[in-house]
Amino acid sequence: MPFHATCLTLLPEAFPGVLGVSIVGNGLRDGLWVLETVDIRSFGIGKHRNVDDTPSGGGAGMVMRADVAAAAIDSVERAGRPLIYLSPRGRPLTQARVRELAKGPGVILLCGRFEGLDERVIEGRGLEEVSLGDFVLAGGEVAALALLEACVRLLPGVAGNAESLTEESFETGLLEHPQYTRPQVWEDREIPAVLTSGDHAKIRAWRRNQAEELTKARRPDLYAASRNAPPVQGTRAKPRD
Ligand code: SAH
Repeated sequence: MPFHATCLTLLPEAFPGVLGVSIVGNGLRDGLWVLETVDIRSFGIGKHRNVDDTPSGGGAGMVMRADVAAAAIDSVERAGRPLIYLSPRGRPLTQARVRELAKGPGVILLCGRFEGLDERVIEGRGLEEVSLGDFVLAGGEVAALALLEACVRLLPGVAGNAESLTEESFETGLLEHPQYTRPQVWEDREIPAVLTSGDHAKIRAWRRNQAEELTKARRPDLYAASRNAPPVQGTRAKPRD
């Protein structure tokens, strides 16, 4: 069975969206992964298919009903897949978690709208909350698209050059070194000479050093972690001491 993504959403028309283009879209057409949407509205209550109501205790906005969300969740065959609610309160998504998800059978993603979801369905269905970052979106769809794009590009056969995947930002525990391509001179700026020297050992050392310096400056948290963690499998060693 290929990687199977099911997105529960009030906006099924948001899918496949960007997941329908480029390598990820080609993978979808080639059957390397499967995307399915479930329209939460179809589990709405009454003639108007209501899915939300006012927050208990008062306050602005609307909250997605627990019974409606649960009916949508229960309509999906779990098939051993993690059940994730995209939420700014969740654990921030990392490349390590993406890698783990990509190795599994797929994911079920619940996209929130309004002020979010009734807490009881989060507890009652054991939803894992995952955040895209410390900012607030209008809905979970963009977060679901981002999570899926990150997972699917790692699936076997999706990326043309599998090697390019292991050297990227986060995969080595560091941010990536700067990249250059032709022309050799652009607006008086030259490509660093070492990169055109043909000396591969020197190039490797230069890139390593750049990655370390960049990470130290921009993400001291990542840099500290990379010096303590064992090297990620399939990638090069951790920074030199
Ligand atoms: N009132 C909520 C925000 C609701 S935003 C709060 O303050 O926590 C509406 C929906 O957008 C959420 O239910 C969630 O599914 C999605 N969303 C918003 N920001 C997100 C983020 N950073 N990561 C993942 N999903 C997010």
